[in-house]
Amino acid sequence: MKTDLKQLSKAELTGFLEHLGQSPYRANQVINWLYKKLAVSFDEMTDLSKGLREGLRATAAVSNLDLLQTQVSKDGTRKFLFALKDGETIESVLMPHSKGGEGFTLCISSQAGCATGCMFCMTGRLGLKRNLKACEIVDQVIAVKRYIETGAYETGHSITNIVFMGMGEPFNNFNEVVRALRNITGLMGFSKRRITVSTAGIIPGIRKLADAGPDINLAVSLNATTDRIRNGIMPVNKKYPLNKLIKACKEFPLSPNRRITFEYVMLDKINDSAQDAHRLVKLLKGIRSKVNLIPYNPVHKLITFNRPSENKIPEFQKILRKAGLTVIIRQSKGSDISAACGQLKASYGH
Ligand code: SAH
Ligand code: SF4
Repeated sequence: MKTDLKQLSKAELTGFLEHLGQSPYRANQVINWLYKKLAVSFDEMTDLSKGLREGLRATAAVSNLDLLQTQVSKDGTRKFLFALKDGETIESVLMPHSKGGEGFTLCISSQAGCATGCMFCMTGRLGLKRNLKACEIVDQVIAVKRYIETGAYETGHSITNIVFMGMGEPFNNFNEVVRALRNITGLMGFSKRRITVSTAGIIPGIRKLADAGPDINLAVSLNATTDRIRNGIMPVNKKYPLNKLIKACKEFPLSPNRRITFEYVMLDKINDSAQDAHRLVKLLKGIRSKVNLIPYNPVHKLITFNRPSENKIPEFQKILRKAGLTVIIRQSKGSDISAACGQLKASYGH
């Protein structure tokens, strides 16, 4: 089996090259090719000796995703459908910032499918196909960077934020996600402050992230304010109930000026009452937080949730704001191409 170089940390890559008889500083050159120049083959690495390139070709691989399809939304959002080496498919979503400008947020996947089974989420309906390897997570960023650089936009555009809010539950694939995070920050040079990992509330993952770092931003998909409601829409709550989840959030060591984001998908008559809003205020008391209210995006004709009526969401927001919380209503982008939150299923066609 050849070694995927983007799977390796810098220390591991250095060791790998030493095995091939190379001096350690070669690692910097290879890292530059992989993460800055976005090389897809050893042939491109022209400042490495022929002998080294041959040695690498024999023992190592430069992983790469196969871009099957790109869809563009009328709001400028682009959805990428990628095939993995074994034929599984995943999606990533590139969103222009609402304020305009040249920055993009890239939403990436951590698993093909998801085992967590949230009732309102299309990815959850698929079930889990498999975990992604770290290099397959990193490669989503690299493939989209290449796409941007090869002229899809005017120059100057770049990815400024990365969110793990695509397919999958990042903390059900903890080790590979952390490995990918280390390479995206340490080797690609992406700012930790501009990366957010979103979890459905896998408490051991929150604890491990606190212990092991890296110091990226944490988002928690809360979506309900009582165990009864949350059990009904997020089966994961039976294992990791609200009081324990909130306790883990309270104990999470936040760096200065950081907050935990709480996502709250607004579902008509399920979690959108004034009572819910007041309970949410209580739950978040004492946590440096911001709240993202996400109006439900329809995902499937058999899934019978609805968006709350017109005024409900601003009213809900008002109660939270009155209590001093920072709250935004996150209008999901790309719903016309099924690229919005909860709509990813990575199949051709619709
Ligand atoms: N598995 C992780 C990250 C991916 S889901 C998590 O659940 O946090 C990203 C966000 O989309 C989550 O906050 C989730 O609650 C939300 N979401 C899922 N389905 C949705 C839908 N149909 N409409 C709106 N948001 C949805
Ligand atoms: Fe998985 Fe997140 Fe969808 Fe829940 S909302 S099924 S955790 S991807």
